[in-house]
Amino acid sequence: MKDIVSLCKRRGFIFAASEIYGGINGFWDYGPLGVELKNNLRDRWWKDMVITPPIGPDGSPVEIVGVDSAIIQNPKAWVASGHVGGFSDPMMDDRETKLRYRADHIKYFVLETVDGSYFTVEGKKVRAFAFMQDTPPEEIERRLKKFKVDKKYISSDGKLPELVFSSGDGIPLEEIIGPDASKPGTLTEPKAFNLMFQTYVGAMQSEDSIAYLRPETAQGIFLNYKNVLDSSRVRVPFGIAQIGKAFRNEVNPRNFIFRSREFEQMELEWFCHPSEAKIWRDFWFAERQRFWKSVGLSSANLQIRDHDSDELSHYAKAGLGTADIEYRFPFTAPGFGELEGIAHRCDFDLTQHQEHSGAKLEYMDPNDNTNRFIPHVIEPAAGLSRGVLALICEAYTVDEKRPSGLYLNFHPSMAPKKAAILPLTAKDEHVPLAQKLYLDIREDFAVDLDIKQNIGKRYARQDEIGTPYCFTIDNDTVNDQTVTVRERNTMAQERIHMDKVKSFLHEKIRRSSV
Ligand code: ATP
Repeated sequence: MKDIVSLCKRRGFIFAASEIYGGINGFWDYGPLGVELKNNLRDRWWKDMVITPPIGPDGSPVEIVGVDSAIIQNPKAWVASGHVGGFSDPMMDDRETKLRYRADHIKYFVLETVDGSYFTVEGKKVRAFAFMQDTPPEEIERRLKKFKVDKKYISSDGKLPELVFSSGDGIPLEEIIGPDASKPGTLTEPKAFNLMFQTYVGAMQSEDSIAYLRPETAQGIFLNYKNVLDSSRVRVPFGIAQIGKAFRNEVNPRNFIFRSREFEQMELEWFCHPSEAKIWRDFWFAERQRFWKSVGLSSANLQIRDHDSDELSHYAKAGLGTADIEYRFPFTAPGFGELEGIAHRCDFDLTQHQEHSGAKLEYMDPNDNTNRFIPHVIEPAAGLSRGVLALICEAYTVDEKRPSGLYLNFHPSMAPKKAAILPLTAKDEHVPLAQKLYLDIREDFAVDLDIKQNIGKRYARQDEIGTPYCFTIDNDTVNDQTVTVRERNTMAQERIHMDKVKSFLHEKIRRSSV
């Protein structure tokens, strides 16, 4: 992960926000290549949802329209949605280190013995060490060694036995050493912590002017459900899609852009008849997995995981539950981390907004106006920022054989630059030809014209930013108008006529798109 983060900074994908002031925890800026990559993923999602939505179970395309709602809405909307009352994580503070942890992200290494003896630190009994759930095994071993935890708690080969992790239930806090603490008993009881960022609207800062930055894009869709129905020709079943920023005052922003305080979501609310919820849930499960594969994530690194019953929100308990599409990020490997959640929200949100606002949000069947119901909702909610991270992690390929030592194996449709035009030398004859080709290609593709430095260094740079094709202009080009094409992954080279470059790129990128 360290190498990925440093490549992202070095090549202009992602920078720490306010870096010259020492940064600000949980906020990131996208550089020239990062914004292109993010836009490519965003545009593909929008195209697959709104412009060319998938073919439904009945063989015709499903209906989806888009919205772009305000980040700040009437605060009553967040009361109705349950975010003001309930959008909080149970947090534990550490009195010694002043660090704060999400209680549900902590796991415990329990020191059990058969003979009833116990382990001590500074004369105090210790029954468990707390770790963040994504702490790698080497780090766990290093920490236990530092505390000189006796071999009888660790298996004879020095490895940690699998089963000694527990939820920590029943172990008093006085006998637990916090994830970064040096002695037991410094963790506090879990307390609820609201994740919404507050602000004030208008000149007066008082209780009455409090508003919230949206913690999800979904509610902006529910708030416009009636407007969309009244103003467009959509009929149940149909979807409303939205892409945009969401803000959560996460307690432990970490793992680069995986968990940040400002991020982007791509959410679809799919409205259907309650009796069809299962059909549509299965449909979206399959579609969403297909999507992530089509942008280049490999099946081996993707999995679907049903939520355990204790993870389910109140509305999900009543319905078909929630499943996550998870990706094997380097910091979760060999485990997986959430990329997208697909939830059956039942009629929870529309019913709540109907009750709190007084607006009628029932759907009336246009063919039978005695048939009125509040639609059920299937919600595929994906992280755009997490998707970008997954694309970068998937693409990062070490290759000692090439000068850069690595390349980014982006799916061509996602690559920030589709091609680079490289005059072999800065000679007078090569540069004008390169410029001519560049001006032609850039009409259809994001393309780089790179003139300076030796050709090896320029190939290395394009490898590091994941450009699938480089076209080199040399003396032969002057004579016969052919250029060398170099393919990123194989480094294989062939010559084609300059006039064919555009159709070559169209063909290659079209063929690699699923
Ligand atoms: P988590 O359990 O990781 O906190 P969540 O289940 O609360 O996430 P949802 O509310 O389902 O997440 O949000 C949908 C998607 O938004 C997630 O799958 C994830 O991709 C993205 N997301 C949520 N929180 C963050 C965050 N703090 N930083 C980046 N992306 C996020």
